[in-house]
Amino acid sequence: MEEGNRVRVGVYVCHCGGNISDVVNVKRVVEEARKEGDVVVARDFMFMCSEAGQKLIEDDIRSGKVNAVIVASCSPRLHEATFRAAITRAGGNPYMYYHVDIREECSWVHENDKEEATNKAIRQVRAAIAYLRRAEPLNRIRVDCERSVLVIGGGIAGLRAALDLAESGLTVYLVERAPFLGGNAAKIGRVKVFPYEKTAIDVVRGLIEVLRKVGSVAIYTNAEVEGVSGYVGNFDVTIRVNPRYFRDRPNEQEIEELKRICSRKTRDEFSFGISERTALVLPPFNGAYPEIPAIDMALCDKCGLCTKACDKVDFSQEPQVVHLRVGAIVVATGFKPYKPEKGEYGYGLPGVITLQELVGLINKYGDVVINGKRPRSIAFIYCVGSRRRREEGKKANEYCSRYCCVAALDVATTIKELMRDVKIYHVVRDVRSYGINEILFEEASRQGQVFIKYDVDEGEPQVLYDNGKPIVKVKDVLTDHTELELPVDLVVLVTGMEPSDGTVRIAEKLKTSRGIDGFLQEVHPKLRPVETMLSGIFIAGTAQAPRGISETLASASAAAAKAMSLVLKGYTELEPFVAFVDQDKCRGSGLCVSECPYGAIEIRGEVGGKRAWVNEALCKGCGACVAVCPSGAMQLRGLRNTQVEDMIRAAGGAHA
Ligand code: SF4
Ligand code: SF4
Repeated sequence: MEEGNRVRVGVYVCHCGGNISDVVNVKRVVEEARKEGDVVVARDFMFMCSEAGQKLIEDDIRSGKVNAVIVASCSPRLHEATFRAAITRAGGNPYMYYHVDIREECSWVHENDKEEATNKAIRQVRAAIAYLRRAEPLNRIRVDCERSVLVIGGGIAGLRAALDLAESGLTVYLVERAPFLGGNAAKIGRVKVFPYEKTAIDVVRGLIEVLRKVGSVAIYTNAEVEGVSGYVGNFDVTIRVNPRYFRDRPNEQEIEELKRICSRKTRDEFSFGISERTALVLPPFNGAYPEIPAIDMALCDKCGLCTKACDKVDFSQEPQVVHLRVGAIVVATGFKPYKPEKGEYGYGLPGVITLQELVGLINKYGDVVINGKRPRSIAFIYCVGSRRRREEGKKANEYCSRYCCVAALDVATTIKELMRDVKIYHVVRDVRSYGINEILFEEASRQGQVFIKYDVDEGEPQVLYDNGKPIVKVKDVLTDHTELELPVDLVVLVTGMEPSDGTVRIAEKLKTSRGIDGFLQEVHPKLRPVETMLSGIFIAGTAQAPRGISETLASASAAAAKAMSLVLKGYTELEPFVAFVDQDKCRGSGLCVSECPYGAIEIRGEVGGKRAWVNEALCKGCGACVAVCPSGAMQLRGLRNTQVEDMIRAAGGAHA
């Protein structure tokens, strides 16, 4: 700060209603602060975050007494923004501020040592004063934004997000890896989505129908995001659109002939592997988009029979590369169902299938038929692949998949409506039919479906075999730990969700982080629930966490709204805490370039005059470059090396 415009520090120490002052002697902290040079005001107050507390700061700034502020209170995560806003309201610079945490870091962790807690608070306040002595007023960085958004993933979340964005007048690019839109929700098909009398496919169809009518959406199916560079507001995206090898839609007769002649077969992903498909992938449901089939080149052996059966087959098509520039990205790459290991609860043996496979059966046949017969008894085993402690060499996920209890109840009640006499057992750890879904649990109980509760510590349910028929062996907590053996016609493994392969791939491409559960991670579950660490990149649906359809749609709309609020304005403002280069000191060694995890640094200029240059929109202020710069040319705005050194000295006891 220039001479004549000297820093005048106000220190405000909070009692937090006793949370702090019961341990930390706040009066002493204030007294010690007053002794420091450049401190013009030091006060304590019961609740600094209250209106009255904030007014103290505002009045001191407005009167011209104070131009730099320290609040010693709770964690900066809670109230740093509150006090910066108060400073701004009073006409001060919000970056002439330091937030000292004397609650979590002092009174809470040292509650049995009041003296030490107080000394620590005093040292922290001294360090903050030292910081502000060298602070300079900063401004947020303004970045212009393209008025367009890329949505990655054409499942129900991607469709919802794309539609919301397009309806707000933005240009939207929707990219789907599969040959058709719809994702997992389309596969659920005719199974109704509780609590509404709409099937999953109705919801998907409805979204596709409206989306196609909105002019500002470009849809790329059979396409993949190959690369993303740039930064918030200005992402450069490369998409590879794979050929469908069909130049037009074949007629019904041609389709039948194509199905007949193609000898290459695989499990049909659209029916969760219940039936087979050929290398010719046909639109999987009425209203699917696009209506043109695609050839699965991973399966096709190029025998050429299809070209003879239909003149719309065109093997001369080449992949296309599309370059886009977008302001924001919504990632909606979805989930994949947990696939049990062979033998896990008898999986792979006759009469043992997953919940998804059961859904595939109902969709395909409108009924449940196993080996030509309707089952008379079905046991659903819950939490397969979820809520499991990881053991050496075993596949399992520790998290609860949230949707599967409800999905199992939904399917079971549907089956009970189809087949009144079927006996249904739910072998559960718990039934997590939260919220309105409780109605499903009540309905299942009312229908006479039986709930058996097991305790993992007493052993998990086992699937045995007798005369080729499965028997579920389980100890039931609800009947005084009675050991039960249930011979049934069908065992359904209630499997959860895992991040899709697309989710894993896109996280690597975008360099965005995944949580310990493998799903994409938000910045903060409460404060910034659909934002990733990378500005301008948002998450929608089950790419973020397991969830049901209603919650998926809600999260997609939330991500779309966030992306919208960013790009509709045409610009965004970023925090000013970024790296900068002292051009006189920089010798262009380039060590910083390889150290930056965000690719924010370039070396510019001719040999001899080479200098590092920081793209402020890409920089996250992590400081990795500062640590490796041999000449001290690279510094962080708002946290220069000299400030850090002063703070360390002050915290150690040095006074100014
Ligand atoms: S939702 Fe239910 S079945 Fe799924 S993991 Fe959680 S408790 Fe288990
Ligand atoms: S502070 Fe971190 S993000 Fe910014 S340029 Fe340096 S290394 Fe890159």
